[in-house]
Amino acid sequence: MKRFAVIVFLMPMILRAESSTTLEFTKFATALEHKFALYGWHDLKVNSIAWEYYRKSGLNNPLFFRVFGNDGSNATVFLGGVHGDEPAPVYILTKLALFLQDHPEYYRDRQIVIAPLVNPDGFLAAKPTRTNSRGVDLNRNFPTRDWDKFASQQWKRNERAAKRKFPGTAAGSESETKFQIALLNRFSPLKIVSIHSPLGFYDYDGATSDLERLGKWLKEIGRETDFPVNKFKVYPGSLGNYAGVERSVFTITLELPSSDPARANDYYDLFRQSFIRLVESTYPAIGSR
Ligand SMILES: [Zn+2]
Repeated sequence: MKRFAVIVFLMPMILRAESSTTLEFTKFATALEHKFALYGWHDLKVNSIAWEYYRKSGLNNPLFFRVFGNDGSNATVFLGGVHGDEPAPVYILTKLALFLQDHPEYYRDRQIVIAPLVNPDGFLAAKPTRTNSRGVDLNRNFPTRDWDKFASQQWKRNERAAKRKFPGTAAGSESETKFQIALLNRFSPLKIVSIHSPLGFYDYDGATSDLERLGKWLKEIGRETDFPVNKFKVYPGSLGNYAGVERSVFTITLELPSSDPARANDYYDLFRQSFIRLVESTYPAIGSR
């Protein structure tokens, strides 16, 4: 009798927690699809993907991702929408998630994690912003070893304190930065692919020093695109510095040639095969953990 009373007492709480979470995400998905429609994207049903989320952005939007496959020995993490004013990557990765959902053959013996919109607040703003809602450039906010000493100094000197590249007041201060770090800690990926725009190249950060060989490999991976491979300089607080340089994770930044939302579907068609090859790849320099 006593146990029954406890169950009866707890049940409504459990049910309420679950339904409010679902309702919360449905509301968010509606806002997202509204934004997508403004960009002319009508083929992405956000709610038809089984996203997970445990964290929220500064404005309380879900920081969501989807995991495909169980074999964590070869995991690839895709990140998009880090800069809210670069819409095409959000389209590409949401569409890739929809594609993978129907094609389990691509992740039977590996794991793919997709976080298509790391900065929902910047993306959903009436006038989208590179930074998050607190004005921080999330690709300058990772807690790299050089952050305390150089992040603010380089921002003032090299960027002339441009607001859109503000690194924050402390390393790793932002919930969206913590979200990305949590993904890296949880999945320990062999490879990270972060998609930006509009510079039109591949950038690599990681352990290998044989850039010639890497360049050949990337040319094979991205054969449709024939993009140059840059070894761009790293910044205090950038993902390439944090994951590639400091943790030796094979980190590719794909800079799409434009931010034009009308070209997002073309880019998806162009890069999908490259992504599949990259996920499958056993390039030796990626190594093992
Ligand atoms: Zn960017």
